Order: sequence, then C-alpha cells, then structure tokens
Amino acid sequence: MATKITLFIIALMMFLSSSFAQGGSIAGKVLEEPNKARQNVNVTLKLEGNVEEEVSTDENGEYIIENVEPGTYLIEFTREYCKYEKIDSVLVSPGASLIMEDVVVTEENFFETISRKTSGTWNWVVSMSTLKTPWNQNYLYGLILVSLLVLLLEIAFPWRKDQKIIRKDFWLDAFYMFFNFFIFSIVIAGVYAVIEKSLGGVDVMSSIALFDKSALPNWAFLIVFFIVNDFVQWFTHVMLHKFPLLWRFHKVHHSVQEMGFAAHLRYHWMENIFYKPLKTFAVMILVGAEPEHAFFMHFFSILIGHLNHTNVRITWGPLKYVFNNSVMHLYHHAKELPANRANGVNFGISLSIWDYIFKKNYIPQDQDGSYVLGFEGIDNYPKGFFGQLVSGFKKD
Ligand SMILES: [Zn+2]
Ligand SMILES: [Zn+2]
Repeated sequence: MATKITLFIIALMMFLSSSFAQGGSIAGKVLEEPNKARQNVNVTLKLEGNVEEEVSTDENGEYIIENVEPGTYLIEFTREYCKYEKIDSVLVSPGASLIMEDVVVTEENFFETISRKTSGTWNWVVSMSTLKTPWNQNYLYGLILVSLLVLLLEIAFPWRKDQKIIRKDFWLDAFYMFFNFFIFSIVIAGVYAVIEKSLGGVDVMSSIALFDKSALPNWAFLIVFFIVNDFVQWFTHVMLHKFPLLWRFHKVHHSVQEMGFAAHLRYHWMENIFYKPLKTFAVMILVGAEPEHAFFMHFFSILIGHLNHTNVRITWGPLKYVFNNSVMHLYHHAKELPANRANGVNFGISLSIWDYIFKKNYIPQDQDGSYVLGFEGIDNYPKGFFGQLVSGFKKD
C-alpha cells in the first residue's frame, strides 16, 4: 500500500512539474572590437528554420530572451556590416537560464561587404523569379505585369497609328529594361554598400534626419517621400542636359527614334550613379530611411514612367499640371527644340509640376506625335547596347 501511495505521489509530482514547466531563458552579452558600439546587434532564435524570437542588445551589448519554449535552437547574431556568428544547437531546458558569454561580432572588411551585398541582391532576383518573394514586393513580375498592361493600351489605343507594335528597337529596350533593373543592381549592390558603410551606415543616416518617421502616418510620409524623391530626380535630369559630360551618358535615353513604353528604361547605367547621391541625400535629410511600403511608390513610378513613353496619347486633363504625360514627354525627346530652349524642355519624371514651377514646360500646338526624335548627329550614334555603353565614356 505504502509503495502504491509513493508511486502515485511521484507520478502526480511528475505530472504537475511537467504541466507547470516553464520556458527557459537565454541571456548573454555581445563583445566587439574596442571603441565600437555594441548596441543594435540582433539576436535571433531559430527553431527548425522558423524565426522564433528576435531581440536587440541594449547599450551594454546585453540581451535576454525570456519564456523560450524548451527545445533545441539555433542562435544568430547579426548587425549591418558585421560578420555574424551562428551558434549551433542551443538546448533550452524547462525553467533553466542559459547564459552565453563573450559572443564576438566583428566588422566586415571591404571585400566581405561587397560579396555579401552582391550575393544578397542575386538571391533577391532569384527569389523573385521563383516566386518566393511576397507578391506585392516582386519587382520582376511587377515590371512584366505593368509592361504587359501598357502594351495592351498601346495595341488598343495607338496614338501614332502607323507605328508597329514591335517598333524599331523594341527588343533592345526590353533588354535595357531588365539589365538596368536587375543585372545592374546585382553588379553595383556591393559598391553602394561600401560607400554607405564608409559614410557611417544607417546610424548616421537616421541621426541627421529632419523628421521623425513616426510623426506622420505612413501613407502621408510615403507621399512626401515620393514628392521629394521626384523633385531630386527632376533636378538631376535638368543637370544631365546641361553639362556635356553628363549629356554624353543621357544621350542613350535620347537615342530612341520610335517611342514606346519600353523606351522608359533605355538609359546608360551611369545615370544611376548620377541620380543616387542626391536621392540618398534626400532620404537622409528627410527621415533617415525609406518609408515602409516603398514598393508601392516604386510600382507607381514604373507605371507613370511607362505611360510617359507609351504610344498612347495621355494628357490627364486638368491633372496635367501634376502628372507628367506622354504628350509632354514625347516632346522632351524631340530633335528640334524651340529657339530659346536649347537645353531642353519638359524634364518631368513622374510629376510635371516642377516644369510648370520652373518654367521648363512646353506643350506643342500640334499634337499628332509625329515629331522627329533624337539629337543632332543621331545617324552616326551606335545602334546596339555595347556601342552605346562605350559611347558614354568617349568624347564627341
Ligand atoms: Zn532627358
Ligand atoms: Zn524619356
């Protein structure tokens, strides 16, 4: 009898202890090279590939993850521009605390940053093409979808009726579209990361920001961001026409002789380099980071840009003072400019408002869209991708 009671009590205690078993906790400290801030290291706990828990270290480099379900986890330590340390298989037992000391996160060198960013961008493109990216952030299929949509508009409502659907240089432009959007991004990602790192990285960007991101609702911030970004691009575009050195590269975009939506992304990759500093500066001054849901703005810009180049007559009615359109932009590409406007007209990217404010607007009287496009000497200009690539670096 006594044995049975003892066994019952032991069983009851085991049952109670198991049902009240609490998760364990993991605590530790991140060490780094001297004089380096230890905050902002992210500690991620992973269970069978799923992100279970993520915390950041405090100003002393310390972190604690509480109430972790018993089990075996992987722990990763990550920080921008640092090599992360992955700790294999940490066993969290019920109620126990696991103290991990002396985790060292060291800064990446130049080559490590380049290779991490380049392969990261490559993986980004691969994950988009294999549909592993969430649908609303899939720039690859997004670009294809927007292009097909505008192509359908060109088929249904052509402006210049005698222009073929597969017009002159259609495939060249299609190639430029994917080259500039994806291949170039992969090649240049590492270089940008090194520049950003040498400027102090994200920390510096958020510390000089004028506005607190949380002060505005996200949609309002997105609109402000879009407007500032568009102005910066408009200004850069004016400069591309003004200075001969910059114009040599921008000529690629103006070498289009039959206009259609795909011409939107025919440009020399050096243009990205010209646009980038001012754009980054604007972001820094504004809030220190791109807004959430920036993809919404990117798709909108692609759509407007495609529509500006499409063979469909679009004016937007009274909204023409706000949005750029195919009538205005076609004339931006015209070979013959009004007498006193030798440096160009209609520089708008997504918005036309800057052209009206700074008196760069020009709407021709006849709008049959039959102007000759290009620039002086276009007949001797290279016709293929590689010739155009090289020509930017050569003096006229
Ligand atoms: Zn231009
Ligand atoms: Zn254009």
